[in-house]
Amino acid sequence: MSNNALSSRDLAVVWHPCTQMKDHESLPMIPIRRGEGVWLEDFEGHRYLDAISSWWVNLFGHAHPYINACLQEQLSQLEHVILAGFTHEPVVALSERLVKLAPPGLTRCFYADNGSSAVEVALKMSYHFFRNQGQTQKTRFVCLQNSYHGETLGALAVGDVALYKETYQPLLMQSITVPGPDCFDREPGESCAEVALRRFEAMEQVLATQAEQICAVIIEPLVQCAGGMRMYDPIYLTRLRKACDRYNIHLIADEIAVGFGRTGSLFACEQAAMTPDYLCLSKGLTGGYLPLSVVMTTEAIFAAFYDEYQKLTAFLHSHSYTGNPLACRAALATLDLFAQTDVLGHNRHLAQVMGEALRDLQDHPHVAEVRQTGMIAAVELVKDKARKIPYPWQERRGLRIYRHALQRGALLRPLGAVSYLMPPYIITPEQIHWLADILREGITLATAD
Ligand SMILES: *Cc1c(COP(=O)(O)O)cnc(C)c1O
Repeated sequence: MSNNALSSRDLAVVWHPCTQMKDHESLPMIPIRRGEGVWLEDFEGHRYLDAISSWWVNLFGHAHPYINACLQEQLSQLEHVILAGFTHEPVVALSERLVKLAPPGLTRCFYADNGSSAVEVALKMSYHFFRNQGQTQKTRFVCLQNSYHGETLGALAVGDVALYKETYQPLLMQSITVPGPDCFDREPGESCAEVALRRFEAMEQVLATQAEQICAVIIEPLVQCAGGMRMYDPIYLTRLRKACDRYNIHLIADEIAVGFGRTGSLFACEQAAMTPDYLCLSKGLTGGYLPLSVVMTTEAIFAAFYDEYQKLTAFLHSHSYTGNPLACRAALATLDLFAQTDVLGHNRHLAQVMGEALRDLQDHPHVAEVRQTGMIAAVELVKDKARKIPYPWQERRGLRIYRHALQRGALLRPLGAVSYLMPPYIITPEQIHWLADILREGITLATAD
């Protein structure tokens, strides 16, 4: 089997995600034969360093011997069972472990099988909670500008990335979108905390005036990933938690991308010392092995659904693969790896290396900003640095970086004009410096004209 042979078969039958399929007339796809550690290998023996953790899911590398062994053991015992009326050890053990690790007060785990579904669960649960309490006028959700919470219709409705949302706008429920705390928007001389506090006034205003209709505010703590790795100060989360309490509004923390150590702490909410009413987790949850998601919530919310069947207050949401044993076992193995070594401590070192490796790009005439939160480091290109004027999106400058990186043996898939490193935690400092060199070359090429 060659790369070309598999690509032609693919192009005859597969429709790829997040892709204009016509692009593949000129942009070859990369058929991957195997993965090991940070590396992906194609059918011709070319290797690609997975600098974006295969869309932010992989934490400890591909084909990790320990996770593989755990999965093999699980396979010989139980691959799947319905989770209504039945249970199994991996889902119980995983829930116990998550309750211990999550911010205090999150004592209940509701499972789904992908991130968007977890967001749907949290939205429905919040609405349903208030309905069970007789507050049927609470039907609306507040989200931040530039937010991303997934692609299903409910999740799209509380997102704000035009590229994904605009087409489907007529199908979506109307959410309330408020300006976000993004530090990129700071005025000269303003700190990230100051811009966050300034922007919080708009949120406070909405909550104060519309609390009676609002079920929940949904946010991505600290980093808006799909929105271009935009970052903000934790003070915003602290204020938001207090305001939600004051106005009897739920807080949904979507840590699908930032959970499990990406921002420096195990969960990003920890950096604001706050507990959300719903914590959505997926992506890194299984170490990048299998689709699984969970919504963690409080005993008080759980209790509002707990009653005689005839009262019809139960949360009847389900997915066929809810709490799949193999996926839960992969998640347990992933948590074992966190327990066995000081992953967060090691990441602090790696994060420092990433910062140093990219620092000089700050002086590039077309780099608006180099920013970093823990194990996420991003470089944003602009046409006009002084006035922060972006390149026209039609020019697809990020694509030039992507192509260059593939040629050099790295998978660096930018988000528009934002390139970023979000590597597996087993990357070495040398590999980080090598990626930074590739990125530097790519940026030179992408901004040459
Ligand atoms: C990826 C992502 C989702 C959606 O998860 P899927 O598994 O792709 O459906 C939701 N929220 C955030 C913050 C994400 O990064």
